Amino acid sequence: MKGKRVVVLGGAGFLGSHLCERLLRDGAAEVLSLDSLITGNEHNLADVAPVGKLQVIQHDITESIRVDGPVDYVFNMASPASPIDYAQLPIETLRVGSIGTENGLKLAREKGAVFLQASTSEIYGDPLVHPQREDYWGNVNPIGPRSVYDEAKRYGEAITAAYGRTLGVSTRIARIFNTYGPKMRLEDGRVVPAFVGQALRGEDFTVFGDGTQTRSFCYARDLIDGLVRLALSDVTEPVNIGNPREMTILEFAEAVRKAHGGGGRIVFKPLPKDDPKQRKPDISRAKTLLGWEPMVPLEEGLVETLAYFRKVVTPRAPHAQV
Ligand code: NAD
Ligand code: UDP
Repeated sequence: MKGKRVVVLGGAGFLGSHLCERLLRDGAAEVLSLDSLITGNEHNLADVAPVGKLQVIQHDITESIRVDGPVDYVFNMASPASPIDYAQLPIETLRVGSIGTENGLKLAREKGAVFLQASTSEIYGDPLVHPQREDYWGNVNPIGPRSVYDEAKRYGEAITAAYGRTLGVSTRIARIFNTYGPKMRLEDGRVVPAFVGQALRGEDFTVFGDGTQTRSFCYARDLIDGLVRLALSDVTEPVNIGNPREMTILEFAEAVRKAHGGGGRIVFKPLPKDDPKQRKPDISRAKTLLGWEPMVPLEEGLVETLAYFRKVVTPRAPHAQV
């Protein structure tokens, strides 16, 4: 990325802000973050600004995007991403995944830039094939509560591929699996900030369903490295980027408890509708084509994540003595 001018759509979010930082550390000439701040926060970029030349612009990418000067890469990270966020923002999620993605592609086309679409393992829905390889087409409920995200992301892949095929835009598609780390929003409802916050406050872990559903958690630094390698490659087909170490949600609660050195009991809550039962990436394609695989073990990533959240969590006050 040395000397390149890069636009990051959704640069003030969890992954977008890590990406901006990595691009500047790699010597990008300038990074422009365009973000509506609907689920992101410019504080995420406060420690990124000193790293290099960063422009922070508040802009909703469902409105047309104008950038002066040359652009070498456009990364589209913009979308509500947690199940709670996209349940609360269903229309916004559909619009950013469709109109917003096309606006990003138009910008890449105008500038002759590479366009990287942040897609998701959710395009596989509640998968009937395990682990998930890129040639699996998925099992998505098109009208369920998660569909606003899943179908927007499926459309995002379709329009990205079409701009590549028919309009000559150089496109990349990253299918991102569950990723965690510092700068997640404490209250975004995803399981990592939920359990980490609960551990730090001394509260019980809220396990949805019986906790036997599985996920595979990738540390943000590893994920960003995969995205940068994909952008720099010439691979136009979708690539799974995630950590193949699969565990149940009960095992994940245990891992958080261990990393924190203690923690609450488990309380069981209802399983949300259409919650995928199992998820694990097959990363053969990323290994072969990008020479990428995750390096950070969960135990280490959780320690760094806990250190970050310790600064933002207020421990629960002890009960007042009567
Ligand atoms: P996030 O909510 O922290 O970041 C998304 C950012 O996009 C936010 O800053 C938000 O304000 C911005 N945004 C949303 N709508 C916008 C609009 N219309 N115009 C401009 N900006 C807008 O979420 P995240 O976890 O950082 O996810 C980043 C991307 O990665 C998303 O596209 C998400 O679908 C994808 N992804 C993330 C994960 C994960 O585990 N974190 C997994 C799969 C895919
Ligand atoms: N989950 C949970 N307790 C919580 C939040 C989530 O048990 O407080 C479960 C959720 O039902 C899902 C898994 O953890 O099975 C991962 O949820 P998350 O929202 O992090 O991501 P996604 O469902 O999109 O993979």
